[in-house]
Amino acid sequence: MSKIKGYAMLKIGQPGWIEKERPVCGPTDALCKPLAIAICTSDVHTLWEGAIGERHNLVLGHECCAVVDEVGSLVKDFKPGDKVLVPAITPDWNSLEAQAGYSMHSGGMLAGWKFSNIKDGVFSEVFHVNDADGNLAHLPANISPEDACMLSDMVPTGFHGAELADIQFGDIVLVIGIGPVGLMSVAGANLRGASRILAVGTRPKCVEAAKGYGASDFISYKNGSIEEQVLELTDGKGVDKVIIAGGNVDTFASAVKALKPGGKIGNVNYLGSGLNISIPRVEWGVGMGHKQINGGLMPGGRLRMEKLGALVSSGRLDVSPLSSHVFNGWENVEKALFLMRDKPADLIKPVVKVA
Ligand code: NDP
Ligand code: ZN
Repeated sequence: MSKIKGYAMLKIGQPGWIEKERPVCGPTDALCKPLAIAICTSDVHTLWEGAIGERHNLVLGHECCAVVDEVGSLVKDFKPGDKVLVPAITPDWNSLEAQAGYSMHSGGMLAGWKFSNIKDGVFSEVFHVNDADGNLAHLPANISPEDACMLSDMVPTGFHGAELADIQFGDIVLVIGIGPVGLMSVAGANLRGASRILAVGTRPKCVEAAKGYGASDFISYKNGSIEEQVLELTDGKGVDKVIIAGGNVDTFASAVKALKPGGKIGNVNYLGSGLNISIPRVEWGVGMGHKQINGGLMPGGRLRMEKLGALVSSGRLDVSPLSSHVFNGWENVEKALFLMRDKPADLIKPVVKVA
């Protein structure tokens, strides 16, 4: 068996390079080699916050585009040499959870999230994809490797925030957090017809990008409470919908307070720490305010990749502003990961081209 190298979480707080056996390709699986990889804030939560618990020698990463290296005997639509979009979430499509409409929880809560959670991730010379026909998508020829990486997680997660908040034509929408995920929530809310988008965040590069994606008003969580600023900007009425793509367990209280009765909250933030989320009793209509709170992991799979890829390849969605830092070569993975942890003012998303 040949050996492959991967950049791994050795244990909580300690990343490093390791060697592993090349994975085994089952009949419906594919083995792929990354063309480019992107670092996610979730890698930071997992590695430094230990947000999903201890992991030993687990290869990190779930965002990449790749070239197929090997396929199993039952794979119909992909062959070695095909360039592919790879979703961060790769469900088991035969599972009962997938049949119930929640493929991201196939096999258990969040278990559609396999890369860098329950198996080795994509920061590896070769990585394994389950259910290749159901999870991979052919990479459209006019999408660059950097942009393709944004389709693994940033676009599907940000857009899922807009779905969870059920954005309707004319809605006034608050997007809390405008890192790369929140920026895609702004873009998603805009595409779904929001009339006004209030964006919460401070990094100047993100603020500038949010303007480009359709944000109309800006709020700094560093300048007092979010809800007070929202109420001031909306003549005391609040917003129809809230998408949470940043902050912490306390952010939900602000979202509930900023929301009109009958409003909906869509959370895609990965809550890395804190025991409980508290909901303010009075502003939640003493239990009767019809303020819905939804939180979800992005849906993965091939159909979603193809549809979101089509939005990018047709020019309806420009994801190029997200890749603020582009490096060449595996040796830069570590630098990119530490950048994502430290979040300098000019960072949106680091990408590393590895082929
Ligand atoms: P970033 O850290 O780049 O962005 C976070 C945003 O939240 C920034 O705009 C930041 O502002 C803002 N923020 C920070 N603190 C607060 C606060 N106290 N109140 C309000 N806003 C605040 O993260 P990403 O965009 O990369 O990711 C966002 C989240 O989504 C992460 O938790 C990530 O793990 C999660 N995620 C979830 C997935 C899913 O499937 N549900 C998949 C992928 C990611 P500032 O400009 O000041 O930095
Ligand atoms: Zn991610």
